[in-house]
Amino acid sequence: MKICMLGAGYVGLVSAACFADFGWDVICVDNNAERVADLERGRMPIYEPGLDDLIERNVKAGRIRFTIELEGAVKQSELVLLAVGTPMRRGSGYADLSYIFEAVKDIAPHLQDGAVITTKSTVPVGTSREIERRLRELRPDIDFAVCSNPEFLREGSAIRDFMFPDRVLVGCDSERGKEVMEALYKPLSLRSAPVMFVERESAELAKYAANAFLAMKVSFINEIADLCEKVDADVQQVADAIGADKRIGPKFLHAGPGYGGSCFPKDVSALIRTAREAHAPVTLVEQVDRVNNERKISMASRIQEAAGGELRDKTVAVLGVTFKPNTDDMREAPSLTILPMLQDRGAAIRAYDPEASKDAEEQLPGVVWCENALSACEGADVLLVLTEWNEFRALNLSQLKEAMRGDVLVDLRNVYSSAGAEAAGFRYSCVGRGREL
Ligand code: NAD
Repeated sequence: MKICMLGAGYVGLVSAACFADFGWDVICVDNNAERVADLERGRMPIYEPGLDDLIERNVKAGRIRFTIELEGAVKQSELVLLAVGTPMRRGSGYADLSYIFEAVKDIAPHLQDGAVITTKSTVPVGTSREIERRLRELRPDIDFAVCSNPEFLREGSAIRDFMFPDRVLVGCDSERGKEVMEALYKPLSLRSAPVMFVERESAELAKYAANAFLAMKVSFINEIADLCEKVDADVQQVADAIGADKRIGPKFLHAGPGYGGSCFPKDVSALIRTAREAHAPVTLVEQVDRVNNERKISMASRIQEAAGGELRDKTVAVLGVTFKPNTDDMREAPSLTILPMLQDRGAAIRAYDPEASKDAEEQLPGVVWCENALSACEGADVLLVLTEWNEFRALNLSQLKEAMRGDVLVDLRNVYSSAGAEAAGFRYSCVGRGREL
């Protein structure tokens, strides 16, 4: 099957590489020439574990290539997948669909008869219908089908998630669409991944409902963590206990500084807007959004308190700034709320992140970037763990403490044990644990 993927970002690039690995003939188009030039030189524009090897293998096999030339790519493809961004529209909280509709306008003149156009991006309910309406206007001369195939992969484990999905969801209202989408995912049937065919509106809404539900789990455990601190319980023990119940499940029950990333905040916000417009407000989800925003802000005061109530002239060493480990993605990372607040209160920041990108440097002005955890700690009064990169788990805490001027360790990801941190000479503060048991 010949496939054209529009957008070589976290979703487009990973999906394109995986489809090529299935054996399909994939052309990945991005309108960012620098990104395409990087890919042609074998340089990854994003950090995603295993992606460089996967792409190298499939480039060598001649199954994937990258271009900025849309026309040829669309003309030769029976399936065109849209994986462009749908960020939050500034100020309103709605999903910004301008990239989607721009892409639709761009592909329209080149679509061949019988083409299937499928949205991989996360788009509000009703978008497939609107894409179809616009295409019918632009191309009344051809038959085509529009499907919705929301993506559920997670950055950091994207390839595994794509190759071994819990399910593949396809919203479809035509035989032609079903036929092509069934063929596309046929290779996954060997791994018994269920491909669920549903109404397009159901597929579109399911993606938002899934993210809102997961965000709700995170906010739920964060509030339980606050309660644990007041009543001498341990949030990890509570999470393990409730997570063992199959009706609840153990995932997304890790207390921390609040969720971030390119999906949860914008998708929660877009769902709230959609629901209000449909006169069926999702008040529970509105609270999740509020709780999470307030949580990120409250972390600054928590750090200040742990530092003895004053941050002026203090130095905070920060481990991890990305929104989660194994990604270089800074979108809506809690660090972007917390670190400027610490700076406003007079603190100097020295930070280390294994994949901190140019993006991070631009978005966090005034931060001194360090080569490793030890150099970040030099002369610091407070050590702050913001992202639970694996390499932080094995750090020699005594050595870090030695390099510091102060002795405060604020662990917002519960990476360390109180006993271990205290043995290294730290005054330790973490999330959701009352007194030591
Ligand atoms: P991204 O910003 O990393 O990538 C989008 C890419 O599209 C960019 O490279 C951009 O240059 C390109 N682009 C924009 N307009 C284009 C056009 N007209 N033609 C060609 N290329 C164009 O975005 P992402 O994180 O991959 O997210 C894409 C979509 O997938 C979003 O709707 C997002 O909500 C959804 N999604 C993301 C994730 C995730 O973990 N990142 C997971 C599931 C779903």
